Amino acid sequence: MKSSLWIEEFQSDHSSYKFEIEKTLFSGQSEFQAVDVVQTKGHGKMLLNDGLIMVTERDEFAYHDMIAHVPLFVHPNPKNVLVIGGGDGGTAREVIRHPGVEKCTMVEIDKMVVDACIEFIPQTSKDLTGDRVNLIIGDGVKFVKETKEKFDVILVDSTDPIGPATPLFGTEFYEDLKNCLSDDGIVVSQGESPWYQTDIQKGLIKILDGVFNDVFLYTFSNLTYPGSLWSFTFATKKYHPVKDFNPNRVTESGLDFDYYNKGIHSAAFALPSFIRKNLEGL
Ligand code: SAM
Repeated sequence: MKSSLWIEEFQSDHSSYKFEIEKTLFSGQSEFQAVDVVQTKGHGKMLLNDGLIMVTERDEFAYHDMIAHVPLFVHPNPKNVLVIGGGDGGTAREVIRHPGVEKCTMVEIDKMVVDACIEFIPQTSKDLTGDRVNLIIGDGVKFVKETKEKFDVILVDSTDPIGPATPLFGTEFYEDLKNCLSDDGIVVSQGESPWYQTDIQKGLIKILDGVFNDVFLYTFSNLTYPGSLWSFTFATKKYHPVKDFNPNRVTESGLDFDYYNKGIHSAAFALPSFIRKNLEGL
């Protein structure tokens, strides 16, 4: 019998997701986490941090389209963008597709993630060395405390609140983030699973509510993250994510997307009732 190799990600409800792999391309232990890149049989190359799936080539477009294009098509003139985390490069890649963005600063704590993705996953990392990307290897928490720059859009593309990502789900971080946001700025953050991580999600929304004028949750579907349905938070100083969205800008941009479009933009903010009930009373 032919033997096969699988990796398995276990969920809190005693279920798991399994992926058959062909071979391991990279395996290392950084100061912050275990970093692995594997060639899967059905999902292309996959990045794992501490054994948790970060991206796969097959469906990364869904996450990266939705973290980047939703705020970038709401803000009327985003020029200076900050990404916290995002070491695979997929978010920065989507940000600089907007020609009006003059600079995308990306602050990723773990050089090993960036190096491994540059070597093995060019699909996501191909623009990390580009002119308009200012890649900083450092702690995003320290960066937002110290920077004097103002950003129009900030994208928190982080892992779960474990290890160095724990403060990225805290009040102090978001207060600092607000200080380096322009007067009409938008912050979008990885908002976890509405099925599996409702406590983390509620905690994040509570913190954002205390710091920003208005906070929204939006969802998208993907293939790899547990439960398929995943979320982002949208915190804003000025613009409403749907009322201030002009769908014509998407058409006029001429950009082609595999997930995002002008219909999905507004639909993403229409939450299923079980999520609305989870968030009641916040
Ligand atoms: N899309 C992915 C997901 O939701 O699973 C996240 C992708 S990206 C690989 C997340 C990155 O955040 C990791 O590479 C991790 O090293 C980085 N990160 C964690 N804590 C950080 C911090 N304090 N400052 C900067 N980057 C951080």
